[in-house]
Amino acid sequence: MSQRERSALLSQIPKVDELLATDEVKRLLQCHPHEVVVEGIRNGLERIRQAILSAPKVEHIKVEIFALSNLLPLFEEEIARQVSPHLKRAINATGVVIHTNLGRSPLSERALRHVMEVSQGYSNLEYDLAQGERGSRYTHVEEILLRLSKAEGGLVVNNNAGAVLVALNTLAQGKEVIVSRGELVEIGGAFRIPEVMARSSAILREVGTTNRTRLRDYEEAIGEDTALLLKVHTSNYRVVGFTSEVTLEELVRLGKRYALPVMNDLGSGCFIDLSAYGLAKEPTVQDAVKAGADVVTFSGDKLLGGPQAGIIVGKKGLIDQIKANPLTRALRIDKLTLAALEATLVAYLSEGEAIKEIPTLRMLTAPVEQIRKRARRLQRLLKHETDNASIEVIQETSKVGGGALPLQMLPTWALGIKPHRASVQALEAELRNLDQPIIARIANGQLILDLRTIPDEEFAAICHGMTVALKKVSA
Ligand SMILES: *Cc1c(COP(=O)(O)O)cnc(C)c1O
Repeated sequence: MSQRERSALLSQIPKVDELLATDEVKRLLQCHPHEVVVEGIRNGLERIRQAILSAPKVEHIKVEIFALSNLLPLFEEEIARQVSPHLKRAINATGVVIHTNLGRSPLSERALRHVMEVSQGYSNLEYDLAQGERGSRYTHVEEILLRLSKAEGGLVVNNNAGAVLVALNTLAQGKEVIVSRGELVEIGGAFRIPEVMARSSAILREVGTTNRTRLRDYEEAIGEDTALLLKVHTSNYRVVGFTSEVTLEELVRLGKRYALPVMNDLGSGCFIDLSAYGLAKEPTVQDAVKAGADVVTFSGDKLLGGPQAGIIVGKKGLIDQIKANPLTRALRIDKLTLAALEATLVAYLSEGEAIKEIPTLRMLTAPVEQIRKRARRLQRLLKHETDNASIEVIQETSKVGGGALPLQMLPTWALGIKPHRASVQALEAELRNLDQPIIARIANGQLILDLRTIPDEEFAAICHGMTVALKKVSA
């Protein structure tokens, strides 16, 4: 299309002021603030402008494009975009159970109910009901944490990065912390042990090599300035081949000989040994406490399956010192998190309950035959709704995610979807842009929906979303 034709079309776009004077837009003004409506109109008109600028031929632009009946839905969409929440529920069809980008662990029913209950009104967050005076927010979960971990003291902060920071700062400010070179972990999102150590004002003293560290290496590094021996769980990678590492028990014995505390950053802490459910063995929190670690830190929203939190358990004297650190105040946990965490921890009093009611554990331990049956059911439902794609039930592998069990391959069943009249890439993008986004991945030219991370309650939303998306990309 020529420059002149394009200019002529662009000049036909209605003006914002004219539109504001129409009855239809006046009705929108009754429901939404003036600024929001004006912004909605501007954005809607911008979309029309872009359509004209990118159209290869004049014929591609129909006169109806300028009609109010065509413009109104655009305005409404642009208004809705401004007033609807940006943070929204999404469907995780990736099969990565602890998906950090998708919010890690979904909360259990019990946790959700407790959050609602506690936050809808006032609470005894920092009020001692027995004494009728100021209490501590940390007491609510301490008792249950001690019961589950068999530790002497416990405390919870904002997240595990914060837990490591405040523990190092309390126990080793200006002093040396000895760590194996094989354990200088980087977790996604710029959490690196050496950098956190620097911020905590502790001095990193690396020992050993990437693949081999011996007890002697730690012992030779101990000196006047040593404050702490640190063991970091290599949660998101493994060193394999010609390796040797010092066990927590050995490190504890060494610490005792030199009167040095030993800290263990577990990363993804859990109270249940998941090897009983066919997963690889991960050290549990109780294992670390039993081995004699003086301080153990772990996340609330990884394998534990609760809210974002950093949990610290250990020897009472050291935990009390950490509690008294002003940094703890800066990293303090809020009441919504505390409520969710307390309800999650209560489930762990019975292993069976925990596996049944904590979604992360339920998904990780789901029997593969049950996943296959559910895949077939979703396939039937989808085939009933749409014939715009071929839908197969296929064998796939899920991942644990969240920097836990990095080598674990979980056999699973998925739907492999191939649109008849569109690319798989277009479908994947359209699903992400739904009101309730569906996050899926592409493999072997198919869109993969892994049933491990899709609960039955989301089947209806998947059918609806998939039908809408397939219709849109097939048009
Ligand atoms: C995940 C992880 C952290 C950080 O925990 P967040 O709760 O994400 O802050 C720290 N250390 C290790 C070993 C981890 O795996």
